[in-house]
Amino acid sequence: MPIYEYQCKACCHCFEQLVLSANEPSPTCPNCHCADVEKLMSAVCARPHGIPSGSGGFKAPNCRPSG
Ligand SMILES: [Zn+2]
Repeated sequence: MPIYEYQCKACCHCFEQLVLSANEPSPTCPNCHCADVEKLMSAVCARPHGIPSGSGGFKAPNCRPSG
């Protein structure tokens, strides 16, 4: 089913809206109930950053044997 993503221009809140018909009027923002929303082409607001969690694998270079 066609689910479009919208972004509110007032509060920049992204939300998905199920559009049943092609001439469906633009929904309102569920956050601030503003009608000034913009339709997004793709899921650009799903993940703001793709930074992997954890920074393991780093070893300090000062690991020299003593003695
Ligand atoms: Zn809003």
